[in-house]
Amino acid sequence: MKPQKSKRLTFAKAPIVQKVKRGGRTVVSQALVKHGVSNLIPKMHIKRGDLVMLMSGSKQAGVKTTGKVTRCLPACGKVVVEGLNFKTHFQKPRGLQQNETGEVKKIEGAIFASKLMLFCTACKKPARAKLEINTKGKKIRRCKRCNEAFDS
Ligand SMILES: [Zn+2]
Repeated sequence: MKPQKSKRLTFAKAPIVQKVKRGGRTVVSQALVKHGVSNLIPKMHIKRGDLVMLMSGSKQAGVKTTGKVTRCLPACGKVVVEGLNFKTHFQKPRGLQQNETGEVKKIEGAIFASKLMLFCTACKKPARAKLEINTKGKKIRRCKRCNEAFDS
């Protein structure tokens, strides 16, 4: 008899599932499923409406330019930023109306949130944020360099 191969699935090799329940919390970001990662709760330092700067990537994607976050996709660790990372979208004519032609659109593609940094409008530089809890118990992010608040 041949010895059976042991089926041991490490988490890094496990298929990526959209949602995995761990300790009562719905977690797992596809971006965070790496070897040796113990914290599976998706955590992004960026919110919708933040002004961010792209720190890495090509000139075409808009490196070192700023934009406003329009959409957050925590399941894959990505965000969509206004005016950054344009991709061409070819729309075919649907044929519902006559004389309808297809068009080439330019729409923003999603970027990994780790490529972005918060942009401080007071010191006009990309900045890291520090957390502060105000008197009402609400978390407020502040610029580490000049103490300007990112949240109101
Ligand atoms: Zn600042």
